[in-house]
Amino acid sequence: MVGAQLRARGIRDERVLAAMSHLPRHEFVPAELADRAYEDGPLAIGLNQTISQPYIVALMTEKLNPGQDDRVLEIGTGSGYQTAILAKLAGAVFTVEVLREHHEVASELLGRLGYTNIRTRLGDGNNGWPLHAPFDGIIVTAAARELPERLLGQLKEGGRMIVPVDDERGGGQRLRLVRRRGGLAVDIEEGVPVRFVPLVQEAERK
Ligand code: SAH
Repeated sequence: MVGAQLRARGIRDERVLAAMSHLPRHEFVPAELADRAYEDGPLAIGLNQTISQPYIVALMTEKLNPGQDDRVLEIGTGSGYQTAILAKLAGAVFTVEVLREHHEVASELLGRLGYTNIRTRLGDGNNGWPLHAPFDGIIVTAAARELPERLLGQLKEGGRMIVPVDDERGGGQRLRLVRRRGGLAVDIEEGVPVRFVPLVQEAERK
């Protein structure tokens, strides 16, 4: 997986490559899909949600570039796989999931794997996690309609956020990488096209 899918496509950060070669991805997928865990694509984890393709996890992590003392907020815990990769690289990871079942399964697994620098929370990620803000980095692993302003407000000055955003030029989504400067978001680069499940708004779930 690391050689053929990540290095071959240009992932260069050795910390990211090491984290991804050490983490047992098969633990994060349903038992019946364990033999497909290292395939080059997303996999269904139940309730219409997916664990992201390994390359996308690596790409987003490399672009977020968390330092070893950084505090990172993740929106969309899902399987907990991206959470665990971040926890190997950052000082502390705070992750929010809106679906109770995923929150519970991921929390149990991350605890069992021995992580002590992860805090999980059940709730609407659109609100971020004010109690632990501000963060050095924020990663959103579900697609937002537009840049989530409320999350930007929980970033430190100079902090980075990576988020898939609906492409206003029609169809699909693109990764956006922004840096907070003077309370505003400064785009760092034009992102690659991606396909994430939508970031739900709390009101839509009723
Ligand atoms: N990072 C995950 C990918 C999860 S898929 C992994 O590595 O497995 C996206 C997740 O975002 C789903 O679990 C979905 O329930 C969650 N999600 C969607 N909208 C959300 C919201 N408003 N707040 C928190 N989580 C949300």
